[in-house]
Amino acid sequence: MTTCTQNTTWADFLEFAEERTSSAAFENWLAPIRCVEEGEEGVVLEVPNVFVQEYLLENYREDLCAFLPVAPSGEPLIRFVIAKPTPLVRPPSGKIVPGQIPGAKQQVRLNPQYRFETFIEGPANQFVKSAAMGVATRPGRSYNPLFIHGGVGLGKTHLLHSIGHYALEHHKELKVECITTEAFINELVDALRNKTIDKLKRYWRNLDILLVDDIQFLQNRPNFEEEFCNTFEALIHQSKQVVITSDKPPSQLKLSERLVARMEWGLVAGVNVPDLETRVAILLHKAERKGLEIPSRVAFFIAEHIYSNVRQLEGAVNRLSLQTRLLRQEITEELVESTLRELLQRAPKEKISVEVILKSVATIFQVPVRDLKGHSRTKEIVLPRQVAMYLATEMVSESLQLLGLSFGGRTHSTILHARDKIEKKLKEDENLRRRIDMVRRSLEIE
Ligand code: ADP
Ligand code: MG
Repeated sequence: MTTCTQNTTWADFLEFAEERTSSAAFENWLAPIRCVEEGEEGVVLEVPNVFVQEYLLENYREDLCAFLPVAPSGEPLIRFVIAKPTPLVRPPSGKIVPGQIPGAKQQVRLNPQYRFETFIEGPANQFVKSAAMGVATRPGRSYNPLFIHGGVGLGKTHLLHSIGHYALEHHKELKVECITTEAFINELVDALRNKTIDKLKRYWRNLDILLVDDIQFLQNRPNFEEEFCNTFEALIHQSKQVVITSDKPPSQLKLSERLVARMEWGLVAGVNVPDLETRVAILLHKAERKGLEIPSRVAFFIAEHIYSNVRQLEGAVNRLSLQTRLLRQEITEELVESTLRELLQRAPKEKISVEVILKSVATIFQVPVRDLKGHSRTKEIVLPRQVAMYLATEMVSESLQLLGLSFGGRTHSTILHARDKIEKKLKEDENLRRRIDMVRRSLEIE
């Protein structure tokens, strides 16, 4: 066993966990854990009490398995020791630490790794990255607000923090705040309790750049929504920059019409699943930062099988790094298959293209492909066209913008509209469901 140093697997795990939890939870539960020893037989962790041990296992068991050696029982190999009690030192309550939100503990520290320089570009995220850079370079003067949406693990938080870093470094006079929606709500609750709400509101409205992560957590919280909307409007009216991330575009969020409309004022941009080449580039970049050499054939193999979430690509690099560090094995396809078994997805049917879908829909709905791409608004054409668009969003891993182009130069919102329409219809139209299933089956045989 070795003594833990800064560059250990435990340190990697902490870094990983810190990004995924509120800073209050991190400080309370994870920061007090000390790694005493680390090696092939697992780690020895010193915890202040048994609750911390339980919290760690309950919330992070699976992630721990990704970072640490695992016992045959499937449990991460950890031995816990309880630390000797030390006198509890708390800062006097209500004390304001300079540079922090008054009374706040929730402020997000920018992740030092999330910078524009470390964000790998590809066709699926080029547009949103340049929008983010535009905003960081000319805050309040390009797109306001910038609304970034996309699935889990596709780099939204990475871009948000990149804007923060860039702005702090290039416009030193500006007040920048980055906050998760969860923390925003907690701040409000605390301020209401401590009667510091006016101070807090003043603080927010005096910012030059407000970066808000995961706005979807504002859904079904009407009171907080209103306060958010007020802050948001106050900032925008003074040309102060607001950037928001979300797992869905504004129109699909269950938020008031007023807020949705405000969020659509500026630029709405999506991050999509990166294509194979970009995934390989991301994988190699992450591996290089860990000092891990992955042969390019193996990198392609991994990226072909982990395709919907960049975070999982990072998980793969972490596991491989552990494996090679502990067992000094060379990275081969076999090693990857055995180490990453649960992470590897079935290879996507990359061969399914819009053209193939159009052909199949045309056959089953008995309409010419030409009409599906054309602009006729007759019912007989509109329905199959929307079906083809719906299937394309499901089966083709291309951005909505590119899909739009394949459908005779339509916009991404037309594609989204078609998808929603068919999803709705499917719930009540048995006949339509059967026909769509037929298209699906015919595509599987292709
Ligand atoms: P989201 O907020 O969309 O769920 P994150 O921004 O947390 O996703 O990204 C998940 C992980 O994947 C992060 O560690 C991030 O650095 C990494 N990542 C995502 N996209 C990219 C990219 N294009 N280049 C480099 N790293 C990326
Ligand atoms: Mg995020």
